This record gives sequence, structure tokens and C-alpha cells, in this order.
Amino acid sequence: MDDLQYGTRNKRGDWAPNEPAGTAPLFAYPPRPLAVLKWLPSYFLPYNVLFALSAVAWWRFVLPDVEVMKTFSVGWILWLFVVNCAALLVFFGVFELRLYILRAQGNRFKYNGKWPSEQKSKAFFFENQNLDNMLRTFGTGMPIWTAIEVAILHAYANGYVPWLSFAEHPLYLFLLALVVPIIHETHFFLLHRTIHWGPLYKWVHSVHHNSVNPSPWSSLSMHPVEQLGYLGVAFWHLIIPSNPLLALYQLHYAGFGAIPGHVGFDKVELTEDASVDSHAYIHYLHHKYFEVNYGDGLIPFDRWLGTFHDGSKDGEARMQARYEKKKARANAAAK
Ligand SMILES: [Zn+2]
Ligand SMILES: [Zn+2]
Repeated sequence: MDDLQYGTRNKRGDWAPNEPAGTAPLFAYPPRPLAVLKWLPSYFLPYNVLFALSAVAWWRFVLPDVEVMKTFSVGWILWLFVVNCAALLVFFGVFELRLYILRAQGNRFKYNGKWPSEQKSKAFFFENQNLDNMLRTFGTGMPIWTAIEVAILHAYANGYVPWLSFAEHPLYLFLLALVVPIIHETHFFLLHRTIHWGPLYKWVHSVHHNSVNPSPWSSLSMHPVEQLGYLGVAFWHLIIPSNPLLALYQLHYAGFGAIPGHVGFDKVELTEDASVDSHAYIHYLHHKYFEVNYGDGLIPFDRWLGTFHDGSKDGEARMQARYEKKKARANAAAK
């Protein structure tokens, strides 16, 4: 595919789409029902459906009987950990292998002209972004992911929280499944905005931002505190009356779903003329500029708070104006 039909490349080799990044029309005011109808398929495909199905697959093929999950034992917990790691290795690995190791589509649709593997940085373990990102993902990310999963399943199995069945509450649980991404977006935005606050940024969130030029393994490369906060979105299903399957879906949506924002390419080519949109641009701009796009755009939080950057010249000007204002305020406070 010719990426210059869809965007432009600057002298540094960075590619940017012609179309400014948009937020979903779901919460637009005044309401835009037609736009919502047109947008709906992209709400479900491919990621929502994929992560919902993966939760079903875990429920059916990976998890032990409820009786077993009533007690903590090394056997089923270790099994779950191994399956989670293997699944993540395959899922993230496919993107990494195709786009970054085989470079199957060269730098077509690649936001950043540089390849992380060719840039050493002291910010990373062994000065290597990929190695650092993988160590954090498997060293702390996957144990935390599995611990959250185990805690939730254990709570349901023992009846510590109400377990609504699909047979008795089909409509309610169906609607709750539909809002899983909305729960995610709200939780992620609030957490993310909080850890951008000075001291927390320094202590916790700066680890994730070491990857200024993110690639697939950057997705869950975070400080353990952030990993717990981020993947802990699934705990909402212990507070809201729910079903463990939906908690699992919420967890997979956060865990496996972290990749689209960090893939580094605007489109992933499938064949000569077919591709899937990654929807990565909004979060790519966050990694590039830090203080814009705290959310992923499903709910327009950043538009409401004036921190949205759509990648256009106007967006750039708005960001600069905001920085100037902030600087002026800081200077005034220092006097
Ligand atoms: Zn990120
Ligand atoms: Zn951030």
C-alpha cells in the first residue's frame, strides 16, 4: 500500500496521517445518531469481539472447576500464569515479529521514522528498549495480571460477591458486557491523569514513558504500581453485581487490549491492498508529547478538559498555547 496517499512523511522519516485523530461520536453533543451507527462496527471489531471471545475461551478451556478455585493452590494458579504468559507472548509477539523483526511492511504507516532496536538509551535495562519492556511485562506485569485474576475468581467461587448468572439476568449482563470498554476508558483516564501528577509521574508513570517511540512490548511495560492500577480495572466486577466471565473480559480488554495504542503503525497491512486501522495515533501522540491525550478517545474526556491533540497543526497550536499559559502561571507563582 502507498502510505503517502493517506498521509505525509517529514524529513526525519516520521509519517503522520492526513486525517486528524478523532474521538468516538458516542458522547458527542449535540448527539450524532448517524455517526454513531456508522462508528458502531469499529466499536466491536476486531478488538472487542476478540477479547470477549478470549474470555469465553479461558472460561471454557483454561480455568479449573469452581470447586478448585475455592482454595488457593499452586497447581491451578501456576497453570493460569503459564497460559497467560504464553498467550501474551503469541499475541504481542505476532505484531512484534511481523512489524519490527521481519519488518514486513517496512516503514509504511510508521509514525516514528526510527526503530527502537537501533536506539540505545540509558533509561532502559541493558540500554535496550525491547529487553527492558519484556522484562517488565513478564517479570511483574504477568504475575500481577494473574494475581488479580486469581483474586477475582477466588472471590466469586467462595460467594464473597454476588454471582449473577446469564440464565437469570441475560439482559443486564449483556448490557454490562457492552459497557466494558466504557468502564475501561473511564478507569484508565482517571488513573492515567492521576499518575501524570508530578511526584507520581516521577515515581511510577515515568517508567512507561521511557518508551517515547513505543512498540508492541511497550504496551504493558509499566511500574508495578501502574500495572496493578491499570489491570485492576477488573476489580470493578467485584463492586458492580456481575459475573466472573465479564471480569475476565474486562481484564483481557485491559491486558491484551493495551497493544493497539502502542503498535507504532497507523495501519497494519494484511495484504497488498487490505489493512486494519490500529487506532494508535491518539496514544502515540501521548507518548510523543506527554501532556495530551490522557484517554483513548472512546469518551471525549480530553476534549472536555482541553487536553486533546488530534495531530493537526491546530492541535499543535492549542497544545503550545496551553504550555505557554502553564509556564506563565508557574512563573507568576514563583515571583
Ligand atoms: Zn502508553
Ligand atoms: Zn502517560
